[in-house]
Amino acid sequence: MIVSKQKELKEILKYLEGENKIFLVGCGECSATCKAGGEEEVKKMKELLEKEGKTVTGYSVPEAPCVAAKVKLELAKNRKAIEAADAILVLACGLGIQSVKENLRVERPVHVGCDTLFMGAIDSTGAFLEKCSACGECVLETTALICPITRCPKSLLNGPCGGQDKGKCEVDKDKDCAWVLIYKELKKQNKLHLLKKKRPPKDYSKTSKPRQLTIV
Ligand code: SF4
Ligand code: SF4
Repeated sequence: MIVSKQKELKEILKYLEGENKIFLVGCGECSATCKAGGEEEVKKMKELLEKEGKTVTGYSVPEAPCVAAKVKLELAKNRKAIEAADAILVLACGLGIQSVKENLRVERPVHVGCDTLFMGAIDSTGAFLEKCSACGECVLETTALICPITRCPKSLLNGPCGGQDKGKCEVDKDKDCAWVLIYKELKKQNKLHLLKKKRPPKDYSKTSKPRQLTIV
């Protein structure tokens, strides 16, 4: 899922300067899960904006605002409330925000209510963990399913670097060195020969942006 975090209210208010009537859009999937823009957070934002003297003309929490078909339908259902607004504030990730802008049939400024952080997995304690950076050329098969691109701050393909100290990373002593984790896991699986295999430089043309995948 895409992990995002709501921006500070004072920053949002700066974006909304001179605009008094606001329509809110949230996200019923990722942003709801990370409590950045689900129904509860959208209602809370409504309250906060009203306390600041704004009028909220309405709100909508599409199941997935990043999917054009879903957001179009929700925006169409709320057309009157959107037309009554001076601007739209979106509490969703960067994909959702852009999708709202692209699928809006009324000319209104669209504002950003969240910072998009990373693509995350959720562990059993409920913490969001960055474990994949969508590099386009997965190496997990040879790294005991631990991603060095994401979990090593230097994205080393052949590690560890000389900085690891007692299994901790030199960049952040509170974090385990990804390559020590890989070593331990490969050892457990009796696959240490994979560590000796030199990984060639990655083909970064596969990460050149913007990428597109069309499934026919
Ligand atoms: S190597 Fe890491 S960043 Fe690349 S696709 Fe695999 S898990 Fe994701
Ligand atoms: S100590 Fe380990 S995780 Fe940290 S930068 Fe070096 S190889 Fe990467």
